Amino acid sequence: MSHNHHHHHHRVAILSSHISPVMASEKEAALAATPSDSPTIFDKIISKEIPSTVVYEDDKVLAFRDITPQGPVHILLIPKVRDGLTGLSKAEERHIDVLGRLLYTAKLVAKQEGLDEGFRIVINDGPQGCQSVYHLHVHLIGGRQMNWPPG
Ligand code: 5GP
Repeated sequence: MSHNHHHHHHRVAILSSHISPVMASEKEAALAATPSDSPTIFDKIISKEIPSTVVYEDDKVLAFRDITPQGPVHILLIPKVRDGLTGLSKAEERHIDVLGRLLYTAKLVAKQEGLDEGFRIVINDGPQGCQSVYHLHVHLIGGRQMNWPPG
């Protein structure tokens, strides 16, 4: 088996551990996710144990392409150190700098991706907000006309 082939199977196996074929929609995945402080798949993306397409990285923030893109451009921006930020609802004053940095970085990445006509920023929180991964992340979606209100 080639190295790439091996990687492919590795990724599928890990993905199916949180989004199974019978639970294919993002909403179902979100409703099945239990809000918790446990490590998430994003730790393995940060450590590069799971491959992802990184579009921006510095000492505090990692930005990579979403595996299930909801538009021509769909990027996730995450703090490299979660520090209790499982979701925005858990934010404390000590997180103000990193929260600002995530949004500022989203603007830089939007520019880098050529989203000059606009884009959408989304932060899902908790079961009703359809959050499925409990490591705070900012969705940057663009490259098509968005609709309002969101679903
Ligand atoms: P949430 O639903 O929690 O707001 O967003 C989680 C996002 O993470 C989803 O859009 C989902 O497609 C993405 N995602 C989940 N697992 C992986 C993965 O292994 N790799 C990448 N690149 N994205 C993932």
